[in-house]
Amino acid sequence: MKIIEIENLSFAYNSIPVLEDVSLAVEQGSFVGLVGPNGSGKTTLVKVILGLEKPYRGRLRIFGQDRSEFRLWSRIGYLPQSLTVFNPYFPSTVREIVALGLLSGKRFPRRLTRDDGKAIDRVLERFDIGGIRNARVGELSGGQQQRVLIARAFVHEPELLILDEPTASLDPESRGAFFETLSALRRDGTITIILVTHDIGDIGRYADHLLWIDRRLLFYGGFDEFCRSDRMTDLFGPNDWQQAEDAVVY
Ligand code: ADP
Repeated sequence: MKIIEIENLSFAYNSIPVLEDVSLAVEQGSFVGLVGPNGSGKTTLVKVILGLEKPYRGRLRIFGQDRSEFRLWSRIGYLPQSLTVFNPYFPSTVREIVALGLLSGKRFPRRLTRDDGKAIDRVLERFDIGGIRNARVGELSGGQQQRVLIARAFVHEPELLILDEPTASLDPESRGAFFETLSALRRDGTITIILVTHDIGDIGRYADHLLWIDRRLLFYGGFDEFCRSDRMTDLFGPNDWQQAEDAVVY
């Protein structure tokens, strides 16, 4: 099943083109790493998919439905790009932040049910933050805060998870733990993941598809295929797999 189908998509901010003629399809269960230089349109593509930026030209279908008709946003979890972590005095606890992931999908009056409470506890355990559920988020490490945010994006058990540079502010150990968590999510189900990143190495290690855009689509396919492609040779020279693994795209 195709989770996202994009055909000839173009988008402009104030008539300045940012995405041009992009076509691709994301299959259920795949893990797509989205790379491209700064300003190449990665976040814009994600926002157009999520309906946060419009209008666009072209065709866009999500879960088989035209974007304009799609309403089941609870099927999608989104962790927006954030360069700042919580300030140390931020008053909410871990559990309260995760609960927001359920409250935002509810209509007024927004109340949590007993089942919601169970879902929150499940996700706290799953992301290994049960032991700190009553801690204030501002007091946690960057890696722990990131777990809280991904738990919030995941608490309604979305089928599609879109993460925009989630590891940008993490130390190497927390990054490793973060990717292990994503891998575990994939082992347990059929979740589809789109990860915006600067790090091609992370895509090689964890994702199965590489999507490279620079306003236009430059490459979309398997990572192994990318390493054998002309595009890879153009960028890194012939047969230099190791260099691709270590590459960071800015
Ligand atoms: P990336 O995520 O690849 O760094 P973006 O999608 O954030 O790129 O931005 C693509 C281009 O669109 C950049 O030139 C950026 O300056 C521009 N842009 C992004 N957001 C806006 C906006 N809200 N209004 C006008 N231009 C924008």
